Order: sequence, then C-alpha cells, then structure tokens
Amino acid sequence: MSEIVKELLYTGKAKDVYKTGNEDEVIIKFRDDITALDGGRKDTLSKKGEYNALISAKLFEILEEHGVSTQYIRLVEPNEMLTKSLEMIPLEVICRNIATGSLLRKYPFHKNQRLDPPVIQFDYKNDVYHDPMLNDSIITALKIATQEELDKIREITHVINKVLYKFLNECGLILVDFKIEFGFDKEGNIVLGDEISPDTTRLWDIETHDNFDKDIFRKGEKGVVDAYHRVVDLVLTAEEKEKWNVEKIEM
Ligand code: 5GP
Repeated sequence: MSEIVKELLYTGKAKDVYKTGNEDEVIIKFRDDITALDGGRKDTLSKKGEYNALISAKLFEILEEHGVSTQYIRLVEPNEMLTKSLEMIPLEVICRNIATGSLLRKYPFHKNQRLDPPVIQFDYKNDVYHDPMLNDSIITALKIATQEELDKIREITHVINKVLYKFLNECGLILVDFKIEFGFDKEGNIVLGDEISPDTTRLWDIETHDNFDKDIFRKGEKGVVDAYHRVVDLVLTAEEKEKWNVEKIEM
C-alpha cells in the first residue's frame, strides 16, 4: 500500500476507496475479488485488480487527451489510483455497439446485431432493487439527476464510446459494450468516475470474436485473468509495461 492511503471510506464488490491527506482526493484500490450474477459467483484471482487498474488508467488517460473529464489523477501503485473525490450518481450508464448479453435476453434483437447509433441505457445502481433499468422520467422523479444532467451524460457517453471504440480497435479489440459511472466534482461538473476495465466492458478479439472480459467468468470458464493480462498487453505501450513490471505473455 502506498503511504498516501489513510482511512478506509468505502468498500465495494471489487474496489476500496481510501481517504488521503487531501480532502479533494481519494485513492481507489482495485482488489483481486471478482463477482458476477448479482453476487452469486465470487472468486479472488491474483493480479486481477492490478490489470483492471492499469487498463482503466490507460483508458482514462486516452479520454482526458480527447477532452473528457475523468476523476483519474495518476496511478500510485499498479493497483492503486489517485483520483479526484466525486459525489457519485447512482446510475450505471450502459452503452452498446453490438446486441449481446442482457439485451438479447430481454428484447428481440438478432445476436451480434450492429447497433448504429449505439444504444444507451440507464440502470439504477442499487443492490436492493437489483439494478433495474430506468427511464428519464423515473430518474428525474427519483431526483437522481435532472433532465439537463441526463442529456449531458448521454452526450459525454457518446464521445467516450467514439474515442474508446477507435483506440481499442487499433489495439485489435472490438468494444462491444460497456458500463460507466459519473459523479459531480466539487464545482458541480459531471465527471467520469469508477473504472473502465474488462470487468465493466465487453471486449472481443477483432478476428476471432473471442471474449477478453468478465463474460469468461460469468460463463464459469477458466482463464479470465489471462484474458485481462492480454488486454493489458494490447493497450499499454512497451514503456508503460516496463514501468509497471507487467509480465511478458508467452506465445
Ligand atoms: P449486460 O446488460 O448485457 O449484462 O451488460 C452490458 C455491459 O455493461 C457489459 O459490458 C457489462 O460488463 C456491463 N455491466 C452492466 N451492469 C454491470 C454491473 O452491474 N457491473 C459491472 N461490472 N458491469 C456491468
């Protein structure tokens, strides 16, 4: 643990949030825990937290370069991210480029149907209610966000999708869909928070369409951490891999 980590503020399913000496900044520690199926499947897998933090940091850096505000400041350890403190909005903003997962279970889309324009959906981040899908009217009635804030969140999500789709495509991956979360910074700006990692996205190999994401674990198959390692290998530069001592992949 780095020295700037102070008291534990919050513990989630796969990450812990710690106070630092600066009240405007928190440390997010990515743990090795992995859960799926509404908490019904759990495991602890060595290196998983580190790979997710490295991938999230890289994607946040790319987004910042394209003008998207994120809470990311820097990595202090391979599994610890120094971030701006945000008041999180309890929404899971899901963006889909290809129809798969729960979309196929709930609606008559064709398997792997291209979604253009992308589909954006809002789920309520609430374990008691099992993350139900919301609409604008329910969101504003529950005072989770105003219509103006929702419109802004949709606009930023489209930009995030465009930027990451292109970047990941150049790395040999298809960004099938992803879940992101936003919060307010102390000035009241809407800022991207949480993580963007193979835990929260579906990433397919461009050629084979093999999964490089949590679907491997959801399906009960082996090899999920090796897949995350492969994503690190594809998205980080050689210098970044050397800096964080990422093991080489044996071919
Ligand atoms: P689906 O609704 O098809 O299960 O998921 C759509 C996308 O959002 C996938 O990339 C999935 O990883 C992400 N996603 C949706 N809900 C959650 C959630 O509660 N936790 C995580 N980690 N990802 C989610």
